[in-house]
Amino acid sequence: MAEQFEFGNPEIVQEEVDILIIGGGMAACGCAFEIMRWAEGTGLKIKLVDKAAMDRSGAVAINTYIGENDPGDYVRYVRNDLMGIIREDLVYDVGRHVDDSVHQFEEWGLPIWKQPGDEDKKLADGGKCVRSGRWQIMINGESYKWIVAEGAKKALGMENIEERVFIVRLVTDKNDPTRVAGAAGFSVRDHKLHIYKFKCCLLAAGGAVNVFRPRSIGEGTGRAWYPVWNAGSTYAMAAECGAEMTMMENRFVPARFKDGYGPVGAWFLLFKAKVANGLGEDYNAIHGAELKDTKRFGKYGQGVPGTCLRNHIMLQEMKEGRGPIMMDTPGAMAKLAEKMTPKEVKHLEAEAWEDFLDMTISQCGIWAGENIEPDKQPSEIMPTEPYLLGSHAGCAGIWVSGPTDIPGTPKEWSWGYNRMTTVKGLFTSGDGVGASGHKFSSGSFTEGRIAAKAMVKFALDNKAWKPEMARSVDELVKEIYQPVKTFLEHKDYTTAIDINPHYITPKMLQFRLQKIMDEYCAGISTWYQTNAKMLELCEKKLEMIKEDSLKMRAKDLHELLRAWENYHRIIAAECHMKHIQFREETRYPGYYYRMDYNYIDDDNWKCFVNSKYDRDTKQWLLKKVPYVQLIKD
Ligand code: AMP
Repeated sequence: MAEQFEFGNPEIVQEEVDILIIGGGMAACGCAFEIMRWAEGTGLKIKLVDKAAMDRSGAVAINTYIGENDPGDYVRYVRNDLMGIIREDLVYDVGRHVDDSVHQFEEWGLPIWKQPGDEDKKLADGGKCVRSGRWQIMINGESYKWIVAEGAKKALGMENIEERVFIVRLVTDKNDPTRVAGAAGFSVRDHKLHIYKFKCCLLAAGGAVNVFRPRSIGEGTGRAWYPVWNAGSTYAMAAECGAEMTMMENRFVPARFKDGYGPVGAWFLLFKAKVANGLGEDYNAIHGAELKDTKRFGKYGQGVPGTCLRNHIMLQEMKEGRGPIMMDTPGAMAKLAEKMTPKEVKHLEAEAWEDFLDMTISQCGIWAGENIEPDKQPSEIMPTEPYLLGSHAGCAGIWVSGPTDIPGTPKEWSWGYNRMTTVKGLFTSGDGVGASGHKFSSGSFTEGRIAAKAMVKFALDNKAWKPEMARSVDELVKEIYQPVKTFLEHKDYTTAIDINPHYITPKMLQFRLQKIMDEYCAGISTWYQTNAKMLELCEKKLEMIKEDSLKMRAKDLHELLRAWENYHRIIAAECHMKHIQFREETRYPGYYYRMDYNYIDDDNWKCFVNSKYDRDTKQWLLKKVPYVQLIKD
C-alpha cells in the first residue's frame, strides 16, 4: 500500500475567476441558479467547487414554506424556538422570499403533496398543499436534491462546475488583510492542487458533524443525523480568514429514532404521534409545569416550548430513570384509521414508511434488523450527539450584513452587501449564516439566491480590482501537503503503517477530538452538562490537539481529505467551546447546560455573542452584541 503512494508533488492548477461558489448543497445551488440571472451580459466568470457531488449534497424535506402565513409570524416562530435571540432582519428576509424558491422547485418537477381536489394545481397557482405543521409541507423528498442540482447545473453550466475539489484554506489579500482574495484546495480524485483567485466568494459548505463523540459507535460508526461531509469547513475557514462569528455557543441536539436517526417531524406534526416514558406515561404532563419556573426558564417556558425545551423535558425524564422514551407509532396509525377508509389508511401507512426510505434508509435497516413493525410496535426516541449548524433548529454561524429595508434595523447590521461577512468579499448562506435558524432546505436555497445578487453587485463594483494573495503558492502547497510529507518521511520507521510515534492517523485524531468535546463540552456522556472548570480543561486539551493536528499523516488522498476535515472540526469545536465559556448562563436547556449558571439570564445575556479569531496569535476575542427586536411580539 505504502509503495503505491507516490504523490509528493501535486500538479498545481491555478485559475482566476470573478466569483467562486464553495459548496454544492442547497445554499450553493440557490446561488448558482440565481447568479446567472444577474450576471448575464456582464462577462463575469463564475465557478462552483464542491468536495463531493451536487446531486447528492443536500436535504430531503421542506420545513419552511410561508404560504398563507405572514413572514412576521415566521420571525416570531423562529425567535421563540431559538430562545429569543435571532437576527430578525435576516430571518424576515428569508421569510419574504422563500416561497418563490419552493414554487421554482415545483416548476422543476418536485412532487409536492396537495389537498384533495388540488392535485393538478401548482402552489404558485393557488394549489393548497398538505402541511405537516404550520411551516412544514409534505413532498416526495427522494428526488429533491437531484431536481434542485439539475436546475443549478443547467443555470451555471457544467463547464463552470468542478466536483471532487475540497477547499481547505481561504487566503486574504496581500494589500488588504480584511479582504479575501483566494482559496486553495485539492482534488479528492486526482493528484492536483487547486488555487483560485477571485473578487468574492460564497462559502457554503454546511455545518459541523462528528465534532462530538456520536452515539453510533462500533458497527454503527459513521451513522450520523446530519451529513457527515459537513466538517465545520464553513466555520473554520471563515474564522481563520478573520470573519466575525456569532452564536457559536448554539448547537442542535435532535431527538430522533434511536440508532437509525430517523426523522420525527412528520410523525409528531402530521401523524400526531404521542411519546411516552418507559412506563407508558405522558412525561410532558409530568414535567410541563416545571417550564413555568421563570427563575430558570425566564419567559420562554410560558408559551409553546421551543425545540431545546422539548429536549429538556425528555432528558429530565430519562435522568430520573423512567426511560426509554417511546414513540407510539401504532397508536398514531390506529387513531388515524378511525377517520379513514382502509384504502386511505394503507396509503398513509405507505407514505409514513416512505418518509424513512426517502430520508433515512438506515432507519428501515434498523427496523428490519430488529424485527420491528412500526405499525405494531412503538420505537425508541433518543436525543443525539450535538451538531453545529445554522439552518435547522439551531443558529450557529457567521455574522453577516443584512438587508437595508426592514424598519428598525440597526445601521451597523448592514455594511453594503447582503450576506457578506465582516471579511470583504466573503459571503455565506445556509448553515454559514448565524443567528438565523429554521431556514431548512428551502430557506438555505433562498439565502444562496440573496447572496448571489449581492455578489454580482460586489464583483461589478470591484471590476477593476485585481486579487493578490497574501500567501505564495509554494507556502500553500507546503501547508496542505504536510500530512503527505509527514507520512512519506516516517512511514518506514515502523513495520505497521498505522503505528508510528512520528504521526497520528486522522481517524485516531478524530476519536480524540470527539472524546474531548463529549466529556468536557457538554456531550452525551455528561447529559449535555458542563461548567467553567470542565471548559478550562477542554480549552487546554483543544490547544494540544491543535498542536498535534500538525502531525496528522495522509497515506492517500482519502486520508488527506480526512486530515483537513479534522483540522476544520477542531477550529469549529474550539469556537463552540469558547462561546459556551463566554456565555455565563444556560440559554438553551436541552441543548446544553452550564451547570454553574443553570438558568436563562435575560438581564445579562439577552444578546448575541460574537467572536473573532486571530490565526497568527491563535487567540479568540469574544464580545456581547446587543439584540434588537424588529418584529413586535
Ligand atoms: P424533523 O423531521 O425532526 O427534522 O423536523 C421537521 C420539522 O418539524 C422541523 O420544522 C421541526 O422543527 C418540526 N418539529 C419536529 N418535531 C416537532 C415537535 N415535536 N413539535 C413541533 N415541531 C416539531
